[in-house]
Amino acid sequence: MTATAIHVREVGPRDGFQNEPEIIATDDKVRLVELLARTGLRRMEVTSFVRADVIPQLADGPEVLARAEIPEEVAVSVLVPNERGLDKALELRDRFDEVSVFLSASEAHNRANVNRSIEESLQGLERVVPRAREAGLRCVAVVATSFGCPYEGAVAPERVFAIACRLVDAGAQEIGFGDTTGMANPRQVRSFFEQAADALDGVQLTAHFHNTRGQGLANAVAALDAGCASFESSFGELGGCPVPAGATGNIATEDLVSMLHEMGYETGIDLGAVLEASREAQRVLGRPLGSHTLVAGPVDWRDG
Ligand code: ZN
Repeated sequence: MTATAIHVREVGPRDGFQNEPEIIATDDKVRLVELLARTGLRRMEVTSFVRADVIPQLADGPEVLARAEIPEEVAVSVLVPNERGLDKALELRDRFDEVSVFLSASEAHNRANVNRSIEESLQGLERVVPRAREAGLRCVAVVATSFGCPYEGAVAPERVFAIACRLVDAGAQEIGFGDTTGMANPRQVRSFFEQAADALDGVQLTAHFHNTRGQGLANAVAALDAGCASFESSFGELGGCPVPAGATGNIATEDLVSMLHEMGYETGIDLGAVLEASREAQRVLGRPLGSHTLVAGPVDWRDG
């Protein structure tokens, strides 16, 4: 990849599918994952190993992971919440390359999400991450509510970086910063990533924006301008978060890819193929998805 190459990790099969009110049939999930795997994407989060009673939408995660035919060149990641999740994932060790672990940067959100204090989460992840590394897995740690918390308000960047440093010390090779409830603004994001580059020198930094208030792509540009070259997004703008209720999802992969290509960046992703996957998701879900490029189509400069 060239200096202008940007990494995009597709998270729709996890972040998206888990937030759908209806449970998507396993066959549909497998087909959608396989469509995405043939778009030129190099990274994809395929599912998560959470308890089925907590997230029934992903109860068939192991089956999807076992069945989906994904080309060798796509780095497959799975989300694991704890050691038990890692143990379950390791039963399918040959089916994936990376694990993602997560916690929130605000106490109230972490409590609401995993019913633990941040310190308890960190101590748990300090056992999960080294075990994942020993199993030969690449390890990504995602810090949710990095830019603001719906319960606590502002979250100091220093606090986010301190949490990230603990996870890097434990062995995480990449840190994702999540704007889980879409509170970030571009000026804040720019300053955040400039500081993050100093605080976490040498660590791959990834931005995970939600389009809750329509600012997801503006935030992505701000992160780009501050040197961030890695993003997570969700095809069709799938995904969301229970807070605030009814909120839209992650930035749409096709909107991000369209914008990056128009700006002269390379992603290696075939935009038309992503749109095809999103169209198929629309058919499966039986409702229009939030993606803009899905409605308008790719930019065509011959248009009047
Ligand atoms: Zn998300």
